[in-house]
Amino acid sequence: MQDSDFKHNFHTHTYRCKHAKGDVADYCERAIAYEMETLGVSDHSAMPDDRWLAGRMHYVDLPEYVGAIDRAREQFPQLRIVKGMECEYVPEHRNWYEDELLGAYEFDYLIGAAHLFLDEKNEWVGTYGGTNSAKALVEFANYNVKMMETRLFDFIAHPDLFGNCYAKWDENCAAASRDMLAAAAEFGVGLEVNALGIRKQAAKPASNPFPLYPWLPFWELATDYDVQVIVNADAHRPDDLQGKTSEAFDIVDQFGLTHMDVGALGDKATTKGDLA
Ligand SMILES: [Zn+2]
Ligand SMILES: [Zn+2]
Repeated sequence: MQDSDFKHNFHTHTYRCKHAKGDVADYCERAIAYEMETLGVSDHSAMPDDRWLAGRMHYVDLPEYVGAIDRAREQFPQLRIVKGMECEYVPEHRNWYEDELLGAYEFDYLIGAAHLFLDEKNEWVGTYGGTNSAKALVEFANYNVKMMETRLFDFIAHPDLFGNCYAKWDENCAAASRDMLAAAAEFGVGLEVNALGIRKQAAKPASNPFPLYPWLPFWELATDYDVQVIVNADAHRPDDLQGKTSEAFDIVDQFGLTHMDVGALGDKATTKGDLA
């Protein structure tokens, strides 16, 4: 598959998260140049208590972010523009995701993403550098399962992110992966094959002993479960809107995985009708 065949991206960041470049309109222009059909905008979620501000927008910026998406819809009617955010799940804010984001702000979809996870003491641990033990893998998996149980999230970004600091696939990886895969099947939540990970692998120095992500044994195990997957660019600049997405589709093809229905994704009538 050629990069230009990638028509639907649901994972796009704007400058508001402080580590990406470009605004919604810049990505729309690029998507149209690439003859894409869907652009899902999914910046790192604002949080109502402004926690973890280093890599996300301030809470006060949320209406302006939503406005940028709404304006783009008027400016680029030829493109399907879908309103999303990439969210950690903070249990005490359970109602906020549902009432404010999916409710008042009318987000079309939310991505669940464990850049941090809750450990067994209910304390937050960073996933980068944090999933480096058998215990942490259990906690990371439990946290991802908890996100899926909420049914707030249409898919889970980079569920194999633990490859950032766990050097060798072993039974601990397999057990954690099986827990996540079983939950994804049970709750009907998609799992993302993340092309940013492939771009990171391509740029990885030889001194880095870790596999990063996508980690192929995870996707091989996925064939044992009735799960659906989604390929996304995880673009942090317009130039990356298609970067390595064809390689991500190669993984889907290699293992014969089933891709999510991207037409239904973001369509509230089909995906958010039965929020538990
Ligand atoms: Zn992410
Ligand atoms: Zn992302």
